[in-house]
Amino acid sequence: MHKIDIDLVEMTMDVMKYAIGRISATKREIGKPKKESELKALVGETITEKGIGGENAFNLWKKHLINANVPADHPRNLAFVPAAPTRAAVMFDLVTSASSIHGAYWMEGAGGIFCENEAMKWIVSLTGLPKGAFGVFTSGGTAANLSAIVTAREYWRSLNDKNKSEKGLIITSIGAHSSIKAMAKVVDVDILLVDTEDRLEAKNLQEVINNLTTHQRQRLFTIVATAGTTNAGIIDDLAGIATICEKEQLWYHVDAAYGGGALAADSVRHLFIGIEKADSITIDPHKWMFSPYDCGAVIYKDMALAKQAHSQQGSYLDIFKDEGAQGFNPADYQIQLTRRVRGLPLWFSLATHGTNRYKEAVERGLELAQIAGKMIEDSPFVELVRAPSLSCVLFRRKGWQPEDYTNWTYQNHKKGFALVTPTKWKTGNTFETVSRFCFINPDTTENDIEMILDSMK
Ligand SMILES: *Cc1c(COP(=O)(O)O)cnc(C)c1O
Repeated sequence: MHKIDIDLVEMTMDVMKYAIGRISATKREIGKPKKESELKALVGETITEKGIGGENAFNLWKKHLINANVPADHPRNLAFVPAAPTRAAVMFDLVTSASSIHGAYWMEGAGGIFCENEAMKWIVSLTGLPKGAFGVFTSGGTAANLSAIVTAREYWRSLNDKNKSEKGLIITSIGAHSSIKAMAKVVDVDILLVDTEDRLEAKNLQEVINNLTTHQRQRLFTIVATAGTTNAGIIDDLAGIATICEKEQLWYHVDAAYGGGALAADSVRHLFIGIEKADSITIDPHKWMFSPYDCGAVIYKDMALAKQAHSQQGSYLDIFKDEGAQGFNPADYQIQLTRRVRGLPLWFSLATHGTNRYKEAVERGLELAQIAGKMIEDSPFVELVRAPSLSCVLFRRKGWQPEDYTNWTYQNHKKGFALVTPTKWKTGNTFETVSRFCFINPDTTENDIEMILDSMK
């Protein structure tokens, strides 16, 4: 026993030292990609009957495996939507694990859920939704979108017996995130895409609705607007779409998984006017609210409707719903039962830094996009595809073919220098391959941007 305790203490110290090293590191490499066979050759068999021992396994991690990942918070990782969790949030992610909290029901997780809800109040306040609106943390934007669509569908079916035997229909635009289409499949509803990658305007939406067949119109139950498209940072006409949803009596979901963080930024808050009319909103704190993975959020105007859709029943669950145990039960409002209190790191970080620091950090991301846009305009060999929107910048290298972008991406990645990936932009009927920056990390410097652009010369 004694020996085991000493081993345990040593292992704990090793892990803590490693975590401290990562959290306080000022310089980091972008990891280099490796094939599965290469990794296997480096580490060998790790899952065996007797185990290989913690020290051994940890050494393999430190020596080989960690380096095959791209840290999402590297300042020259500008691909997809990167992340930049605060050090406070990362530290409290460790505390969250060590505290072993079951975050489904208040009875078991009151302290953790209380903290989550304090952070959620701030997020909800940013949306401007009326009193009574609230939300719950999910594993990410996909789970949040799914939870919202299920709530909308169940509500729609509750309105009219006829709807119960109909397949629902959602309208969104081709700029919507892939998860909307994927989750429509999960829910088994049809989806109609308005053919614009640019801002979805109320006028276009109304036209599409007017052109539906009677049966389609009867099946239509939800409009999904995007507040910050993942590809280009475009915010749909939220106010105009809200008016249509009100008039046509449709559920209004706003997917702000990426853009939602910018609700905190005074300089762009006006672009989101209309979001306060939504029935549900998705925001990913693990994108622009500096939370570690994974942390999404779904917010509802009417929590009772979410509860009707999601509350799970079972004799073993009754005690959680008993008067004596009552409190806010996160399991009632989204698809997951057992859950990590994944909003807890965000709570600690917000409590540590204050919300002003969040505003400033988001403003810096917006500013970096403007700076990059200016640099691109000033360079003869690159040009903007469109003006930067939120923190996304689409640009082309003059004369490059699609494969040039791909090769350039791999080269920078293999060197451990940067991760910047190509994307496509649709104008008319043509898709053009271009490059894209997405700024989240406030520690990205102008010099980083300059070096990346120089690598295209
Ligand atoms: C990232 C993103 C999602 C999906 O979120 P995950 O956290 O990756 O599941 C959904 N919608 C939009 C607009 C996004 O940017």
